[in-house]
Amino acid sequence: MFIGHFAVGFAGKKVAPEAPLPALLLAALFADVLWPLLVAVGAEQVRIAPGDTVLTPLEFVSYPWSHSLLMLIIWGALFAAYYRNRPDGKRIGLVLGALVVSHWVLDWITHRPDMPLYPGGPKYGLGLWNNVTATMVVEIAMFAVGVFLYATTTRAKDAIGRWAFWALVILLLGAFIADSLDPSVPPSVQMIWISALILSGVTLLWAAWIERHRTVN
Ligand SMILES: [Zn+2]
Repeated sequence: MFIGHFAVGFAGKKVAPEAPLPALLLAALFADVLWPLLVAVGAEQVRIAPGDTVLTPLEFVSYPWSHSLLMLIIWGALFAAYYRNRPDGKRIGLVLGALVVSHWVLDWITHRPDMPLYPGGPKYGLGLWNNVTATMVVEIAMFAVGVFLYATTTRAKDAIGRWAFWALVILLLGAFIADSLDPSVPPSVQMIWISALILSGVTLLWAAWIERHRTVN
């Protein structure tokens, strides 16, 4: 999934308004932030295989540390532990932990059966990515709900708070639609992990910028 992960991150603000937006998005995207780093050092493998699913030319050969259910539960528990001693930390930690684990559920819906239960364990996936229209309907609907919840839970303190937020929304939506309809194949595995790191780095910094210019209602 792509903007569906952002959707649940934005929606998290409704449940834990004290949680900063970059932390909510980092939790929801955590598997995809870890993944390019592990691919870069060779701990996880991806292959360029056009047609692996209709939507993506990537074959996720092995990603037990970033994308198995067991490891995401462990990463989620670490998020929860990190926030435990802060004011409202229990609730923030619980929501962030749930967001980390939500990644597995959302990728399980979209990927073909390549999502491991635990490293070396059986793999599952419903393969929504084999239907481009259904993928777009599901992800855009989720994104609309997430954006609505965030936009109504917070308000802009200034013009930046308004425009930076809506610009990010439009950028993500545009990137998702272009990516879903674009049949081109990435030139190399190196290009895949570099662009994945840039995308998550830019969006997380952008979210930190939005956070400073918006406040909870
Ligand atoms: Zn993922």
